[in-house]
Amino acid sequence: MKPHDLLHPRPAGLYCPPGDFYIDPVRPVERALITHGHADHARAGHRHVLATGQTLDIMELRYGADFAESRQALAYGEKLSIDGVTVSFHPAGHVLGSAQIAVEANGLRIVASGDYKRHPDATCAPFEPVRCDVFITEATFGLPVFVHPDPLNEIRRLTASLAQFPERAHIVGAYSLGKAQRVIGLLRAAGHDAPILIHGALAKLCNYYQGQGIKLGKLAPATDEEGIVDRGAGQIIVAPPSVFGERWTRRFADPLNVFASGWMRIRQRARQRGVELPLILSDHADWNELTATIRETEAGEVWVTHGREEAIVRWCELNGIVARPLNLVGYEDEAE
Ligand SMILES: [Zn+2]
Repeated sequence: MKPHDLLHPRPAGLYCPPGDFYIDPVRPVERALITHGHADHARAGHRHVLATGQTLDIMELRYGADFAESRQALAYGEKLSIDGVTVSFHPAGHVLGSAQIAVEANGLRIVASGDYKRHPDATCAPFEPVRCDVFITEATFGLPVFVHPDPLNEIRRLTASLAQFPERAHIVGAYSLGKAQRVIGLLRAAGHDAPILIHGALAKLCNYYQGQGIKLGKLAPATDEEGIVDRGAGQIIVAPPSVFGERWTRRFADPLNVFASGWMRIRQRARQRGVELPLILSDHADWNELTATIRETEAGEVWVTHGREEAIVRWCELNGIVARPLNLVGYEDEAE
């Protein structure tokens, strides 16, 4: 069996003909295997969804209980046979519940890693490399210039700013699934014990993380029906990045905009969004993590998707690994 016969791109997404399923399809399909809960990978409207229990829970929180006709949970490491194709899910270290999906038939194993990272993250299970013949890697930060700094050092820049500007409300823009909880967890690890105010859009997911045993400390709503609960001077308020430039932020005391994203490596992006304190904090692998991971999988062939495909393809070729870009459409790197 050739790799292409086991998995190949179609307009709806990555398709497995012998198993008749898609991985992270961007259109409604009969049978979908979902790597993680970010909206560009996990969409509503499939007939049957197979994912980790946490990803299924997150999809229900976001889309409601009827997001699919039927669902099935697969634990990390558990194997399931679908029409002669063996599938298994393995931790991707990206967000809670995130998984790489291994697809195996006739002795050929392909691993679709979805989004992943190798930096430590106390809010999800750490990435586990899986040996395979073909490794499908993302390349969001697939350029040598992208080397992410130590997350705890980045968060200490935030606590230092809070100490320096106690009269200002520090509004941290962080995506609601994964990044927001990671920022809060890192603040706790850095010794910030005070209650953290959160935007209403984060409440459900923060509650879910806490219910899954992820310690986030004391959280309080930033606003209620009456408006703001507190002007937030000297406090940290975590909100989706969409609040920047909106009236919502201007209610707080001399707001200082903080954005936690891998893209904050690019100064211009921080300036465009009016970010005063950019924190380089990413849930995607940087250049070193991408290349180290490719080596660890021992894959002889690598397919590169969503991001800077060319540089990773070139690196593989220079290192004797067959590589090609996989032109999948519909995945945005913005949820970062
Ligand atoms: Zn993602």
